[in-house]
Amino acid sequence: MGRQLPVIQPQTFRCDPHELCEGAACCRTPETDPALSLADYFRLSRHTGLPMSRIWHDNGNAHIYFAEQNRFLFTLGLLHEPCPYLTGDLKCGVYEMRPRACAEFPYLMFNRRPEALEDYSSYRCLQNVSLSTEQAAYAEKLYELLVQEGQTEMQIFWGNMPAYFHVPHLGVFFEMAAKAFDITIGKDPNMTKSRTRQLVSNLRDMDNYAKDWIHEKRIDANFYKSALNHVVFSLVEDEIAQRFEGLKDTDLKPFEETTRRLIELNASLERTKCK
Ligand code: SF4
Ligand code: SF4
Repeated sequence: MGRQLPVIQPQTFRCDPHELCEGAACCRTPETDPALSLADYFRLSRHTGLPMSRIWHDNGNAHIYFAEQNRFLFTLGLLHEPCPYLTGDLKCGVYEMRPRACAEFPYLMFNRRPEALEDYSSYRCLQNVSLSTEQAAYAEKLYELLVQEGQTEMQIFWGNMPAYFHVPHLGVFFEMAAKAFDITIGKDPNMTKSRTRQLVSNLRDMDNYAKDWIHEKRIDANFYKSALNHVVFSLVEDEIAQRFEGLKDTDLKPFEETTRRLIELNASLERTKCK
């Protein structure tokens, strides 16, 4: 009988910002911009002592999902070029109360959206790895919290009406962009805020892209997805701030319990990300 070949164990995912990336890579790139939930804003508010509307104005952003042809779902997001909570020594400044999307990266992709891992093919920490049983179980428990907090958010913040944007053609996009530009420059005429500069640079890129599109007669959903977040933020910034201000403590009560569970859950899985 021949000799048995050794069994090669698949590597388990591990986050090691010193060895596997140039330090908190996933906190610094626009492609990993996290969707935030209302519960994340609640936690950031508790942690920083700032009202949710202030956090939204200073650090918020729109997060856009492609829903179906010409329709985009708008949810709350976070500025992420880099994340405003990343400290100078590349640590997370709100680690204990970091958004759930940050805690779940990349675990939930392995469990629920393995195709999304292709977008991160340049991340060394994600190459040729799988999740341990413990990591997979952690991801599922996070997913349960995501569903529960999402249901509460839909009721108390969105009135059970998800927010969609219709962008049937480039003309509509440029109308929205022009309005967003006027609003933003009206608030910050000297362009002192990085958000204003990001919007302007974003619109310049879009202009170039649109010229190519007219030439090539094609457009894809990724064009709008990357173009829309700063534009939509400018259009809805004040309305969303008013929604935050209209929330009562009793509305937010359910998040006290889910936050307690999230803290316990995060403490159960040792990891190093931006700690
Ligand atoms: S998960 Fe960890 S190792 Fe991977 S990019 Fe993020 S910080 Fe770097
Ligand atoms: S883990 Fe912290 S620093 Fe990194 S993106 Fe999330 S909030 Fe920002």
